[in-house]
Amino acid sequence: MDDKEDLRLEIPSYAFIALARRGMEKISLDQCFLKNCDNQDSNLLEPFKKEIQEDEKKYIKKIHIKCKKCNRVFILKLETLKNVAKSTKNKEEDSLSMGLVHALDENGKNLGHIGYF
Ligand SMILES: [Zn+2]
Repeated sequence: MDDKEDLRLEIPSYAFIALARRGMEKISLDQCFLKNCDNQDSNLLEPFKKEIQEDEKKYIKKIHIKCKKCNRVFILKLETLKNVAKSTKNKEEDSLSMGLVHALDENGKNLGHIGYF
């Protein structure tokens, strides 16, 4: 079983940032979001753990990622609002619904809102 490759598939390739007057900017999620690290090489990013939280309104997926460049861990928090998602529960769900991406540090401290996926 190759769990690590599966975890990679759980992460959207891109997020979209809303710009005030210029529409949306597309950014890659294959990068380290920790301070003082400029790693943008997906080969140096190793997702190793997934957490799911779900309540009536939201579906939250947290992917823990080890950065092999700065040797630290960060968390991508992917939050989907259920009233936006209209599809049935299947694998297509992520692509059909609007989600929010946040980056957290290893201790769960919020590093900021990245964008939408
Ligand atoms: Zn890093």
